[in-house]
Amino acid sequence: MARRLAGRRLVIATHNRGKLAEIAALLAPLAIAVVAAGDLGLPEPAETGRTFAENARLKALAAARGARLPALADDSGLEVAALAGRPGIESARWAGPARDFAAAMRRVEEALRALAPALDRRARFVCALALAWPDGHVEPFEGRIEGRVVWPPRGGRGFGYDPIFVPEGYEETFGEMDPAMKHAISHRAAAFRKLISACLAGEGA
Ligand code: IMP
Repeated sequence: MARRLAGRRLVIATHNRGKLAEIAALLAPLAIAVVAAGDLGLPEPAETGRTFAENARLKALAAARGARLPALADDSGLEVAALAGRPGIESARWAGPARDFAAAMRRVEEALRALAPALDRRARFVCALALAWPDGHVEPFEGRIEGRVVWPPRGGRGFGYDPIFVPEGYEETFGEMDPAMKHAISHRAAAFRKLISACLAGEGA
């Protein structure tokens, strides 16, 4: 049995405003008050894990211990099949310290073109969530969405690599799509559905 959230307050262990906005939207129906780790003055731990799940775990634990409250972390990114899963856990780092995602998307395209003519454009977004408590307990969840990367980037909605990702069965990129649609089908939505049913829904929700 997964441990359930007893109170209705949750620290969100991210300094990424795009993710924070999506997480707040996904939790809005549950009447859970969210506070960003950055707004509590908590530092961001180094992401030294080798997987999304390990990084989510270390970010959630650092925030839960620092805030003495349950904390939720999201570690996510884009895995391109022909690039052996890169950028993967390096997704944020490919944008450099200036968080230049136009450059990061170009880097994905250039890496793919260097492999031409084998233009296999399959890709997926992966989202690992970790809900941690100050006593060190952690509940992990994961969601994915399969699709392909396109060029040039399209659409000004969303964040990160959204303008080059087209989910399977759709024609629009995540950057063009109505955010409500993205929230219904995304990797983050899939992981949240698991988190909510295991730890957040039910009595008190
Ligand atoms: P993290 O903060 O190390 O987990 O960085 C994840 C990075 O992956 C983000 O900065 C984005 O570049 C990318 N990413 C994760 N989820 C999404 C998404 O839903 N859309 C677009 N990019 C995403």
